[in-house]
Amino acid sequence: MQVFTSLLVLSIVFAVSVITDIRTYKERKANSVISLAQVIETNSISPLQFDDNEAAKNILSELRSTAPEITNAIILNKKGKIFASYSKTNTDSFHIPPNLSEKNHLYTDDHLYVSNPIMNNNEVVGKVFIKVELTELQELIKSKYQIGVVLLFVALGCSFLIAVFAQAYISKRLLLLVGTMKEVSRTGEYNKTISDKGNDEISTLIRVFNNLMQQIKENLRRKDEFIGIASHELKTPLTSIKGFVELLLELEDEEQKKEFLQKAMANSKRLDKLINDLLDVSKIQSGQQLELNEKEFEIGVLLDEATAAFQMAQGHEIIREDNLNGQTVIADRQRIEQVLTNLLSNAIKYSPPGSKVVINGRKTTTDLIIKVRDFGKGIPEEEQSNIFERFYRTKDNSIHVSGFGLGLYICRDIIERHQGKIWVESQEKGTAFYFSIPLRGIMSNQQNVGL
Ligand code: ADP
Repeated sequence: MQVFTSLLVLSIVFAVSVITDIRTYKERKANSVISLAQVIETNSISPLQFDDNEAAKNILSELRSTAPEITNAIILNKKGKIFASYSKTNTDSFHIPPNLSEKNHLYTDDHLYVSNPIMNNNEVVGKVFIKVELTELQELIKSKYQIGVVLLFVALGCSFLIAVFAQAYISKRLLLLVGTMKEVSRTGEYNKTISDKGNDEISTLIRVFNNLMQQIKENLRRKDEFIGIASHELKTPLTSIKGFVELLLELEDEEQKKEFLQKAMANSKRLDKLINDLLDVSKIQSGQQLELNEKEFEIGVLLDEATAAFQMAQGHEIIREDNLNGQTVIADRQRIEQVLTNLLSNAIKYSPPGSKVVINGRKTTTDLIIKVRDFGKGIPEEEQSNIFERFYRTKDNSIHVSGFGLGLYICRDIIERHQGKIWVESQEKGTAFYFSIPLRGIMSNQQNVGL
């Protein structure tokens, strides 16, 4: 397309320049022949006055040497009769074109005709007519035509070569891309990338391909990491349960039996949570909705229960600073509890033992907002946007603290299904997670407490 456009532009520019050249040549030629006619006019006044044909003929015959392109010239007298004539070849007859009388010059295909009145004291005493052959103009047109043809062929040749090279360049890169894709799908090696320094559409395609490979590679890495963590996370509580049950079978002491049963129970719960998380994730991933069983309930009671549960089990101080007792919401109580439990267990997991975890809450005119804040080491800013992704674990924590990287992913899904929002604010002094759920017109007399 570009080649075609260039050719078209080149042809137009060339045609315009040829037309301009011919026009300029014609104007110049007409002016110079008119000047010659005016010289003849001046010189033929006295021969006309004295009826001296010979003198007029001599004037015209000078044209043979001074203007060889003039083929014919005639001088008419006052009555319009031929007074003197000149013919370059002595054979040509001179027919004055009828429409020449209105103009001082006229171009036909191969001749220029010029007419000029002969004036004496403001009186017309005769007329000069000149006929010029246009061989020079024809030569000019012919040479322009030849240049045009040569130019066209050169341009066509260049365009063809450019097109062939461009095509080869494009095809080469496309074939490389297709080849790499085929190789990737055959070998399953997703670490292949293509280097390309171009800046065109194919480069964009190659960049997209490289990004895709990067993402697949990263996802595969996370999947492998997940399988490793999952087997470990599932095996640890199971091994404990097995160990406690084996011990129980041999034990007589009722107190010890009770203690081991409690430990086996705690590990079963851990297993249960892990498996439930995995089931939730596979549900979310397959596009099935986590079913919500929405009812009105008191959020303060739920916060009380969660605080008590974590206070008892862990070595942290859980503090409620909200003033939401009596406040109700319409939501799935179990799922909101799941979110709260996850945020609290993360706060405990990722902050030093004995430190505080503060629960706060407030309501706006439309929403209820809950905040869970810890005093751990926080989450680096560049990773904050990733932690709600599936399997994502911050680089710091992924080795030292056990976990799947699924909890926040599930929390976000639950909150978004309630038309709410979940977000994080974290600095070096700790992390604060917030979630909001719409109140749907529910009001209460409780005071707002700032977060
Ligand atoms: P898990 O805790 O099982 O790894 P989550 O989805 O609950 O999975 O959390 C994702 C990641 O976010 C965690 O691995 C951890 O790196 C980071 N994170 C979550 N909560 C906190 C917190 N309170 N303080 C610091 N890091 C946190």
